[in-house]
Amino acid sequence: IPALGATDTSRAWFDRARRSLAGGISSPARLTSTGPHPYPLYLREGSGARVRDVDGNEYIDHLISYGCAVLGHASPLLAGALAPLLTTGTMFGTCTTEEVELAERIEAMVPCAELVRFANSGSEAVQGAVRAARGFTGRSLVLKFEGHYHGWSDTLAVSNRPTPEQAGPAAAPRSVPHSPGIPPGVVDDVVVCPWNDPDALRTVLAAHRGRLAAVICEPIVANNACTMPAPGCLELLRELCTAYGVPLIFDEVCTGFRTGPGGAQGLYQVVPDLAVFAKALGGGVPIAAFAGRRALMEPLAEGRVKHGGTYNASPLCATAALTTLRALADPATTGWMEEAGRRIMAAVRRAAHDRGVPCAVQGVGAMFQVVFTPDGAPTRNYRELLAADRGRYDVFRHELLRRGVHVNAYGAACWFVAAAVTEDEVAATCAAVDGAFAAL
Ligand code: PLP
Repeated sequence: IPALGATDTSRAWFDRARRSLAGGISSPARLTSTGPHPYPLYLREGSGARVRDVDGNEYIDHLISYGCAVLGHASPLLAGALAPLLTTGTMFGTCTTEEVELAERIEAMVPCAELVRFANSGSEAVQGAVRAARGFTGRSLVLKFEGHYHGWSDTLAVSNRPTPEQAGPAAAPRSVPHSPGIPPGVVDDVVVCPWNDPDALRTVLAAHRGRLAAVICEPIVANNACTMPAPGCLELLRELCTAYGVPLIFDEVCTGFRTGPGGAQGLYQVVPDLAVFAKALGGGVPIAAFAGRRALMEPLAEGRVKHGGTYNASPLCATAALTTLRALADPATTGWMEEAGRRIMAAVRRAAHDRGVPCAVQGVGAMFQVVFTPDGAPTRNYRELLAADRGRYDVFRHELLRRGVHVNAYGAACWFVAAAVTEDEVAATCAAVDGAFAAL
C-alpha cells in the first residue's frame, strides 16, 4: 500500500476557493468528504475505481461521486457514447428520441414505472414526485421518516439530522426544519415518524387519516448509514398505505439501478406508487427521474399538475443514462458489484472481530456503511445511529485514506462500489481495512 504524499496543492486551492465560493464549496458534504485535513481534497482525474488528487496521490475510490459513477470513472462505454454528441449537439431544449428510449427502458426495469418524467437532480425529482402525489390527492401533508434524506429543497428539508433536543421523544418526533430559511408552512406540511417502528407508523397514519398526500421513505436508508428495513417493514408500509389510500413513494436516489435492475422495489418485491431515481441513473452526468403508476402520473400527463425544466433529459444526459442502464441490465455487471462489496464488508467484519472492535457493517454489497455502534448491533433508526461513535469512524476513514482508500467521510452516508473495480482493488481495499483497524 503506497504511502501518500503531501496535499498542499489541495490546501492552496481551498484557500483560493474561500475567496470566491461561499464557504469555499459548492455543496457542504464536500467539506468533510475527504482528507484528514481541515480542507477538502481536490480530485483531478479518475479511471475505473481510481482517482488522483491535484498533488498526484492516487486512491481506490469507494465514494464514486456518491454512487453516481456506477460504471467507474471515465467509463470507456460512456466516453464512446457521449463523444459524438460533442460534435452533433448536446442540448436542443426540444423533445428527443433518447428520452423516449430511456423512459421505455426504465418502464421495463422498474416495477412501479408506468409513466416517467425526467429532471436533473434527486432534489428536483423528489419535488416532482411529491407534487404529483399532492396534485393527485388534493392534499398537502406528507409523512416522512426521521433521518431520511430527500434533498435540500424546501419540500422535504425536514428532520434530516435533528438533535434529540430539537426533535423530542424518539417514538413521536417533532418536525424540525433542516436549516434557517425554510418557512414554517413547509414544516407544518411534513409529519415525521420513526423508521422501522410499526406501532408508531400505525399511530401516525391513523392520526392523519384522510389528510396525507404521500408517505415517502428511503427503502434502504443510505443517509442513515445504510440502515436496512426490518423484516416486514416495507410490506407493512405498503399494506397500510393501501388501506389508508395514501400514495407510497420510494426515494430510490441511492438504491435505484444499484441494488439490482429494479432498485429496492425489485429487491424487496414491494411496489410503491411512485419512485425517484438519480445518482446511478446517469453514470456520472446530472439526470434524475420520477416514475409511477399511470393514475398518479396522469394529472401531469394532462398538464393539470405542472413540472418542467430546460435541461430535462437533454440528449447528452439521456444518452449517458441509456448507456448506463444498458450496462446495468447485464446481471454480470451488477453481480460483480455486489460480490466485490460483499468481500469488502466481510473484510471489515473480520478485522473488527480480530481486533475486538464492536461495529456493524450494514447494507448490501453495492452500498454499505461501517458503523461503530456501542454493542456492534446494526442500527434500526436515526436515534440509534446518533448513539454510534462518529469520532471512531473519522479515525477509521483517515487511516483508510492514508492507505490509499477513499470512502465517504460522513459516517451517516455510505460506501459505494463501482462496477469497474478490479479483483486487485478489492483485495487492496481489504488489506487497507485490516491496517486501518490495527491503527484504531
Ligand atoms: N434522495 C436521496 C436518498 C439522496 O441520497 C439524495 C442526495 O444525496 C437526494 C434525494 C437529493 O439528490 P440531489 O443531491 O441529486 O439533489
